[in-house]
Amino acid sequence: MPELERLERDVVVIGAGATGLTAATKLAQAGLSVIVLEARDRVGGRLWTDLIDGQMFELGGQWVSPDQTALLETLDELGLSTYERYREGESVYIGPDGQAARFTGDIFPAGEHTKAEIERLIVVLDELVAQTDPAAPWEHPEASRFDRISFRSWLEQQTDDAEAIENIALFIADAMLTKPAHAFSLLQALLMAASAGSFSNLVDADFILDRRVVGGLQSVPLTLAERLGDDVRLGQPVRHIDWSADAATVTTDTLAVAARRVLVAVPPNLYDRIEYAPPLPRIRQQLQQHQSLGLVIKVHATYPTPFWRAAGLSGTAFSPYQVVHEAYDNSNFGEEQGTLVGFVSDEKADALFRLDPAERKRAVLASLAAYFGPEAEAPTVYYESDWASEEWTQGAYAASFDLGGLTRYGAAQLEPVGSLRFGSSDLAAEGYQHVDGAIRVGRRLAAEVIAELGAAAEPAAAEPAAAEPAATEPGATQPAAADSAASTPASSTTARPTGGEPQ
Ligand SMILES: Cc1cc2nc3c(=O)[nH]c(=O)nc-3n(C[C@H](O)[C@H](O)[C@H](O)COP(=O)(O)OP(=O)(O)OC[C@H]3O[C@@H](n4cnc5c(N)ncnc54)[C@H](O)[C@@H]3O)c2cc1C
Repeated sequence: MPELERLERDVVVIGAGATGLTAATKLAQAGLSVIVLEARDRVGGRLWTDLIDGQMFELGGQWVSPDQTALLETLDELGLSTYERYREGESVYIGPDGQAARFTGDIFPAGEHTKAEIERLIVVLDELVAQTDPAAPWEHPEASRFDRISFRSWLEQQTDDAEAIENIALFIADAMLTKPAHAFSLLQALLMAASAGSFSNLVDADFILDRRVVGGLQSVPLTLAERLGDDVRLGQPVRHIDWSADAATVTTDTLAVAARRVLVAVPPNLYDRIEYAPPLPRIRQQLQQHQSLGLVIKVHATYPTPFWRAAGLSGTAFSPYQVVHEAYDNSNFGEEQGTLVGFVSDEKADALFRLDPAERKRAVLASLAAYFGPEAEAPTVYYESDWASEEWTQGAYAASFDLGGLTRYGAAQLEPVGSLRFGSSDLAAEGYQHVDGAIRVGRRLAAEVIAELGAAAEPAAAEPAAAEPAATEPGATQPAAADSAASTPASSTTARPTGGEPQ
C-alpha cells in the first residue's frame, strides 16, 4: 500500500457540494486552515451542468425562488446573474379522463367539486404550516400525532375527492420529497412546506421555480471552489475518521489529514460509507437509518424551437395521472432551440426503470406529447438524469425521515458529535432539500466551529471546549479522551477567527 500523504488543517470538510464549499469559504475567511475532500472528480455534488450531445443541461438542481435569500445573497456575492423561467401562455393539466386541458393560474381545471376541495385543503395546510417551525417541527403541539400518520392517510381523512387527494399529494410527494405520499408523515409534509414559507408557495410554480442562473446553478460551487484553490482536493473519497472530542484524522486512499474539527457535508444516506473510530454514538447510528433519499428521473428534451410557445403554451404542465407528473419550459438563456424538462417520480420511476432504455424514452416522450402535442415526440437531444445510480448521491432530490422519524430523531440531526459536525441541504430548516438550505447549513456549521475554535485559541480557554458527543443521549459511546491518531495541527494556534454568520 502506498505511503499516505500527511497533512494538518484546522478543519477538514468532507464533500464539495454547496454545503461543504460554503462552510469551507466561511472558515477560510475567518483565518482557519481548511481542506475540502471530494469523492468525485468534480465539485458541486447534486449541482451539475453538463453538455449532452452538445446541448447544455442542468442535470441536478437549477431553480431559485424569491424566499431563498441565502442563495440569492451568494449569487450576488459571486457576481452570478439570473433569468426568469419562461412562463407566458397557458399551462396544461391532464385529469383522470386523460384529456389535456389548458388553464392559467395555480388551480387545475378539474370539476367544480374537486377545485373547491383543492382550494379548501390548501387553506387547511397553510394554517398547519403557519404553526410549524421549520427549524423544530417536532415542537408543534400535535407533532407526535402528525408524525404517525402518512400524508396520504391524512388527506384521505380530509376529503373523499380522489382527484383532489392526488393533486394535493403531488405538490409534496412527487414534486418535492419524491416519495409516495404513503411513505412519509404529515409532519414531514408540513416541514417541507414550512421550509418554503407556506404550502401555497409550493403550489405556485412561478414562485418556487422562479429563476435560473445564467450558465447553470453549478456555477455556485464551481466559483466557490475556484476561490478556495488547492484547498479543494478531488477524487478523494473519505474512508475512515479517527475522532475524539477535540481532534480527528480523516483518511482517504492517499491522504491522512489531522484536524481539530471535521464537517461531514454529505447527504445522510452516505454517512455510513465512512468508517468511524470509535463508532458514532448510538443515537446517530440510529437516526441516519431513518433518513432516505427519494427517487426521481429528471428528463431533458431539446427541440429546434420552443414549438409549444407558438401554440400559446408556457411549457408548464401537471398531472398525477401521467408518467411525467410535471414539465416546464427549460430553454437556456439566449438559446434559440427549446428545451422541455419533465420529472418522473418514485413508483412511476421504478416502473420506468424496469423498461429498456428505448421503451423508457418512448414512454416519457409519449407523456410529453400528451401535454404538448406530437412534436414533443421528436427531440434532437434527449437525456435522463439518473441520480439514484450515482455512487456519491444514490437518489434525489434529498433525504427525508420515515414515519415517526422526525419527532424521534430530528432534534439530534445537527448536534455536534465530539470534533465532528454533520450537515447538508437535507438537514436544513429554511430551504430544506434545496441549495438555499445547503448554504444556510454550511454557514451554520462554519459559525459553530469558528466560535468553538476561536474560544479554544484564547489563553483562558486552553482546555479544548469538548463538545458532548453524547449530548442528546446519555450513555452513548464516548470518544477516547485523546485519540493517538488525532493530533492538533500546529496551524490551529495561529487561527484568529473573525466571527461567524449564523442563520
Ligand atoms: C435532479 C435534482 C434536481 C434538483 N432541483 C433543485 C432545484 O431546482 N433547486 C434547488 O435549490 N435544489 C434542487 N435540488 C437539490 C439540490 O441540488 C441539493 O439540495 C443541494 O445541491 C445539496 O447540496 P449539499 O452540499 O448539501 O449535498 P451534495 O450536493 O450531495 O454534496 C455532497 C458532496 O459530498 C460528496 N461525498 C459524498 N460522500 C463522500 C465521501 N465519503 N468522501 C468525500 N466526498 C463525499 C459528494 O460527491 C458530493 O459532491 C435538486 C437535486 C436534484 C438531484
